[in-house]
Amino acid sequence: MAEGRKVIGWAARDSSGHLSPHSFNLRKTGEEDVVFKVLYSGVDHTDLHVVRGEIHSPNYPLVPGHEVVGEVVELGKEVKKFKVGDIVGVGCIIWSCGECLSCKSKMEQYCHERILTYNAIDKDGRITQGGFSSAMVVNQRFVVRIPDKLAPEQAAPLLCAGVTAYSPLKQFYLSNKALKAGILGLGGVGHLGVIIAKAMGHHVTVISSSDKKREEALEHLGADAFLVSSNADEMEKAANSLDYILDTVPAGHPLDSYLSLLKVDGKVIIVGAAPTPLQFIASDLITGKRNICGSFVGSIEDTQEILEFWAEKGLTSMIEIVKIDYVNEAFKRMERNDVRYRFVLDVAGSNHG
Ligand code: NAP
Ligand code: ZN
Repeated sequence: MAEGRKVIGWAARDSSGHLSPHSFNLRKTGEEDVVFKVLYSGVDHTDLHVVRGEIHSPNYPLVPGHEVVGEVVELGKEVKKFKVGDIVGVGCIIWSCGECLSCKSKMEQYCHERILTYNAIDKDGRITQGGFSSAMVVNQRFVVRIPDKLAPEQAAPLLCAGVTAYSPLKQFYLSNKALKAGILGLGGVGHLGVIIAKAMGHHVTVISSSDKKREEALEHLGADAFLVSSNADEMEKAANSLDYILDTVPAGHPLDSYLSLLKVDGKVIIVGAAPTPLQFIASDLITGKRNICGSFVGSIEDTQEILEFWAEKGLTSMIEIVKIDYVNEAFKRMERNDVRYRFVLDVAGSNHG
């Protein structure tokens, strides 16, 4: 198998999920490939689920990272839309068939042949490795352009968390400004959900597991209301008031109390990948004509769009930038709900050990 440049990634070796430096080679640069030096990589809760084998079978050594911003260092000879030095991004998928209905409808994230950015088998039989790594090589179809106005570290979380919130809201709601939104779980995806829903003109209620983020949500993120999910009084007062809830919770939770917050025909959009089953009472769904649906990241087009939307509206997320050797601590802090609201690894500025 032809080998390309040597890189250092931070890999998990077992289900403890502990990451340590791992040296490997990229594939040889193909005609359609973009090779980039990684500048920043966002840390998503999915990374933690995957390194621990909670939601997919892990292939160790496993280098996570699918919110990757980099600087182009080399291009295959058929690549015309980028040049060396461009700042680019890669999200959750690095391949799809291009032929199926999902691909033809520009929803390639649902293609049955899609290849995920890491922990998947690539077309050449290698296991894909993600952006907690000094460089990556990705087919140009799955590489987006970071707008000049956007700082690369701000762009990183948009490539998964941001587009995960943007895509379903765009699909269902973009044209309707009078909507009442609920964002369940104020973490990486949730806080971007608040900012994006507000930028679309919706009235936004954060539904959180504690009171700790109330002030920040209302004063810094621009939410209109805040509910603590364990406060039965608050929850009851808000019954039948929301058009949709974006559910970002990464752990099992009963849905009934959230379903009752929805108006007739309202939707719970599940994006949190809880590894254990979610429960609900059928009559809560039936009597309010309520819906439960899922959504997986967004298309490449959606990804480019959220970057432009963010840059155009001058939006800012709340991120904590850390060096890559802090990643294990970042995982622990994310797990204990101690991050405001997204870790971004300064990969290029780190010593890889
Ligand atoms: P995160 O930063 O850890 O945020 C999750 C938030 O959920 C927490 O901040 C917390 O907010 C709330 N929460 C409630 N119960 C919790 C519990 N038992 N454990 C931890 N958090 C709890 O995670 P994230 O990166 O936003 O990701 C959220 C979920 O979405 C993950 O499951 C991830 O895999 C998934 N995801 C899915 C997609 C997709 O395409 N569908 C894309 C990206 C991520 P409060 O303090 O407000 O309660
Ligand atoms: Zn396809």
